[in-house]
Amino acid sequence: MWRWDQGHNAYTQFPNVRRIAEFVASNQFVGVSSAELLIATGLEFKHPAKPDYNPWRQYARALKVMLLVSEEDGLAIPTAVAKVLKNAGAVTSDEYLHFLAEVTTDPSPAFRGYDHRTAPRYPLLFALKYLLAKTASGGTARASRTEIRGAYKSSSLTGAEHDEQGMLDFIALSRNVDANVNVGKTLVGDEKRQINESLSTLSQISYLHKSGETITVSLSNDDCRIVFVEMNAIQPPFLEDPNLELQRRARLFSGGSTHDFFDFPTTIVTDVVESGFVEGTKFEKTHVVIERNRKLREQFFKANPSPTCSLCRLQTRTTYGWADRVLDMHHLLPLAAGTRTDGRTTALEDLVAVCPSCHRAIHRYYGIWLRKYKRKDFNTVEEARAVYDEILTSFSGAIHV
Ligand SMILES: [Zn+2]
Ligand SMILES: [Zn+2]
Repeated sequence: MWRWDQGHNAYTQFPNVRRIAEFVASNQFVGVSSAELLIATGLEFKHPAKPDYNPWRQYARALKVMLLVSEEDGLAIPTAVAKVLKNAGAVTSDEYLHFLAEVTTDPSPAFRGYDHRTAPRYPLLFALKYLLAKTASGGTARASRTEIRGAYKSSSLTGAEHDEQGMLDFIALSRNVDANVNVGKTLVGDEKRQINESLSTLSQISYLHKSGETITVSLSNDDCRIVFVEMNAIQPPFLEDPNLELQRRARLFSGGSTHDFFDFPTTIVTDVVESGFVEGTKFEKTHVVIERNRKLREQFFKANPSPTCSLCRLQTRTTYGWADRVLDMHHLLPLAAGTRTDGRTTALEDLVAVCPSCHRAIHRYYGIWLRKYKRKDFNTVEEARAVYDEILTSFSGAIHV
């Protein structure tokens, strides 16, 4: 069964995953109270109905599906993934989420009933490959969660397929939309909820966008093909002990199995350069993919029909009356962070509109700031926002009214 447990939507949001990683890498989670956790991570770890509930009992599974801990002799043991994630500027949300997709199996060692001999399927990878194949084929670049659930239930594809034939099989499956939707509707209760939650987690990937039931892909057809074939499921043999298996999988992350396929050759590289990014690092690429995310832009400008540049206040609609949407979208989170979801949809409050000149200047400021502190990225959401506020106060140009 496709299992998942995230506790609360906020806990699987990348900036928070990093905070949790920081905590478990140097503290013992077993026995800690939710009050202590709130101070250390900013997250509550409470049972909504039972305030005295033991956070470990309540959230052990969530921490395991995120591959942050295993359990040995009644203690929470941090994984290699937690140790890597705790360092800001070490990994991007795209790298983490794609890796998670490659190593999340059905059956899962995070849950009771795991049997290492069962031939695995890869539910997150399946969902991603379904979306990528559908888009690569020139079909609709989106699928509903019901459709993905049904496709998983009604086919024998595992998600490990990574050649041309595998893509053709996924495309054939995606042509069966109506049948998939019907099968997807038959799922109820826990399984349906867990699948939906894991798909929300996945939608933080920079080129995905979630709106209600629907997940949309904003990548060129060629890039979809590239990502499809480069994503590789971990293969058995798996260890019999589920906790040792969790640790083994996590070690693959720092062991160099994370590939550098987020080059998005056709979509992104020139954009990164043209945007005035100095280095063109993988962090900056993640940031640019989000800002170029077609669906997210569409939703953002629908919610802000007459935006002004957040920095110089230029109203491009009146200044350039003949042109629509001259403004760029700028993402306010750390460069390596994906988009956040509020469970229902990709969050818009992490975005501002800026004119192209100001946008370029903002990224120059980021570059200077990061070099000054010898960093590759901002440590936290708060820090990224504070640097943006510094830019707003340092701006000395004409303010358009
Ligand atoms: Zn401006
Ligand atoms: Zn930007």
